[in-house]
Amino acid sequence: MIELGTQSDIKLINEDGLRIDGRKFNELRPIRIEVGVLNRADGSAYIEWGGNKVLVAVYGPREAFPKHTQNPSRAIINARYNMAAFSVDERKRPGPDRRAVEISKVIGEALECAVFTEQFPRTSIDVYIEVLQADAGTRIAGLTAASVALVDAGIPMKDLVVGCASGKIDGKVVLDLNKEEDNFGQADLPMAIIPRTQEIVLLQMDGNMTRDELEEAVELSKKAAMYISDLQKEALLAKYKASESEKEGERSE
Ligand code: ADP
Repeated sequence: MIELGTQSDIKLINEDGLRIDGRKFNELRPIRIEVGVLNRADGSAYIEWGGNKVLVAVYGPREAFPKHTQNPSRAIINARYNMAAFSVDERKRPGPDRRAVEISKVIGEALECAVFTEQFPRTSIDVYIEVLQADAGTRIAGLTAASVALVDAGIPMKDLVVGCASGKIDGKVVLDLNKEEDNFGQADLPMAIIPRTQEIVLLQMDGNMTRDELEEAVELSKKAAMYISDLQKEALLAKYKASESEKEGERSE
């Protein structure tokens, strides 16, 4: 009979101080961001973050409907996080569940801290986050891609919002947990910041950490967020450079 491992008997860090996927404590999984991947949306982005694959589409600002949802002094941000039925090993039951409602809410609130919503009264900005493949950290991958998609839609923002997570495995604080680490580790701490102001706009915790560990984890994520912010900007520049050279090509024809 195969026995399932428990938190205490699964080793997540080896003798060389490396994690099960070979990463160091402060190492992120590979991240790739692409901008403007959907023609029908006002803005869009696709992110691969380790084993996560997430697509984001943004519509708006457009007149909020139904009318009673309109805010006369600002835009409302409707974020909808959804995990595809095929995004996890066992088929996930389609449709919203409590987890998706919670994640949609925290992502929407984090984005709201960066968008100049007061410039668009009575409108809604709709952000659809579709998780195609999940491997822990989907909310922060989705949020990171969503802020890029908002820029792609031309929505004015203070700065990009960057998501990053850290956590605790085998008693050590590490960056960016993968699925096994999330399942068998002691804590997961997803967070998001606005790099320019260093404002923390999302902070959640699942598990237990001491106060010192929490501070260490926040610092680790903050540092990584600066690197991820550069990746977001590079992805945006790549799209606009590509469309500039397309226009150049058309002009010279
Ligand atoms: P996050 O993806 O933001 O880390 P959670 O901590 O809630 O959010 O989930 C961790 C991981 O657990 C997900 O990325 C996914 O791989 C897996 N997971 C979440 N919900 C389900 C589900 N209903 N069925 C199977 N796996 C799931």
